[in-house]
Amino acid sequence: MEEDNESFFWIKFEGQKQLATENLVVGNQVYKEKLITKKGTEYRLWDPFRSKLAGAIMNGLKEFPFKNKSKVLYLGVSTGTTVSHISDIVGPSGMIFGVEHASRVARDFLDRVASYRKNIIPILQDARKPKEYFAIYGKVDIVYVDIAQPDQTKIAIDNCKTYLKSQGYLFLVIKTRSIDVTKSPRQVIEEEIKKLKPDFDVMQEINLMPYDKDHAMVIARLSA
Ligand code: SAM
Repeated sequence: MEEDNESFFWIKFEGQKQLATENLVVGNQVYKEKLITKKGTEYRLWDPFRSKLAGAIMNGLKEFPFKNKSKVLYLGVSTGTTVSHISDIVGPSGMIFGVEHASRVARDFLDRVASYRKNIIPILQDARKPKEYFAIYGKVDIVYVDIAQPDQTKIAIDNCKTYLKSQGYLFLVIKTRSIDVTKSPRQVIEEEIKKLKPDFDVMQEINLMPYDKDHAMVIARLSA
């Protein structure tokens, strides 16, 4: 096993180096991912075809600000696949505020993920109304947005202005088809990046192929 940094790991499994996080809840699987124990520590393989953050790492993500004790606001937790790995990474002293507006999905998220992980605070709210979250205290280090909405960049900016600390990171997943099907993915991404420019320094843009078709991840930092 190679330790790349203290946040995620590369584990040799079935002849290949695979991404993994150290399991915060030993024995607990979230999406039938493989659990592997090495030298007494349990790891969960992190599938880039199931998690866009893992896909971004596979495709050359340069800065990885998620670490032990990080505070994260995550919009669009869905059933919690990616959030569960971030929960492993930020550890017991970190915190994730997980926003989801679909109640059935949120129920699944509670049952399968949040109820096992004390570092996740589920927030059943519309991400368009960040002032109504109430459960959030203080500023966060990272805002992660994966909500596949046409106005998602505006939603991301509003949430960052409310909760992200100065110089904090925004991870914005852009699903080009949910923004405008008539425009080319390139054009959509450029237009979304332009919306960020007044308030953010755009650090990197990553195409998520072959893990996710028509998706890009933009990483930006809130200007000081
Ligand atoms: N991030 C998840 C992962 O990697 O495991 C997948 C997220 S899925 C693509 C998008 C989620 O965003 C859906 O569960 C959807 O209900 C949620 N969503 C969409 N619009 C939202 C909004 N305005 N407020 C809160 N959640 C929203």
